[in-house]
Amino acid sequence: MTQARKPATPVKEEALIIRSIRHGESSRIVTLFGGTRGKFAVIAKGARRGSVTATGGSIGPPHRVEVVVHFKPSRSVQTLGQVTLLDAYPRVKQDLTLTGYAAVVLELLNRAFTDGEANPDAFKAATGALHDLEQGSYHPRVVLWRLQVAMIKATGFALDPYPCPVCGQEPAVIGRSNLLLLDRGAICCKDCRPSRGTSIPLSGESVSLLRRITNDGDPGLDRLKPSRMAISELTRTLERFLRYHHPGIGKLPALGMLDSLETPQL
Ligand SMILES: [Zn+2]
Repeated sequence: MTQARKPATPVKEEALIIRSIRHGESSRIVTLFGGTRGKFAVIAKGARRGSVTATGGSIGPPHRVEVVVHFKPSRSVQTLGQVTLLDAYPRVKQDLTLTGYAAVVLELLNRAFTDGEANPDAFKAATGALHDLEQGSYHPRVVLWRLQVAMIKATGFALDPYPCPVCGQEPAVIGRSNLLLLDRGAICCKDCRPSRGTSIPLSGESVSLLRRITNDGDPGLDRLKPSRMAISELTRTLERFLRYHHPGIGKLPALGMLDSLETPQL
């Protein structure tokens, strides 16, 4: 007796489009990160540029969409049904540097999770970051740092820049050069020395910035203008922190691209 083939179940999901690549004559393979399902790939048939379809204009990154997907657990690529565009981030797309920031947001999501690994906190942080880049109410590095901190927390690691794990003083006494303890996710006082674990130096300015961006109630965050040195140092430190705990992420090419966009070679 043959069992009747089980039809794919249509489900509705809000998602960010991470990437979209051409597939055959008239289709695209689109990678999405959904609010409840995490990362998954779909095939969008008849969706090539220039073709007249309902989905044509909506299926490129970094759009936020609501999709109907015909899910079959046995398939690695699902079938895309209806697409509703929720946010096209027009200001981000018109600005090359902001596009570079959006690429880092999507690359982080893409690399931090495997297919089907749901993480609503990471989805919320990424959509929040894209929204903030679009609104332009914060320095874009502040948006990126808040996302990096949120991703560290969303992937299960602690980062608290206030108490000193060596002497217990809170907040730890900060000097010109300080140590971030990668294993503890903490910063120790300028004169305290950890007895074990990996640590990296961090300037007083970067520690102060890190404290402000991890403090949701900071009223002056929208006026924050970090120095060039802190821009480079804090971004790299947070990247290294995440990579230390989650080596699978690797170095982010989009971050290197962003640095070259912001500091053009003469
Ligand atoms: Zn201390």
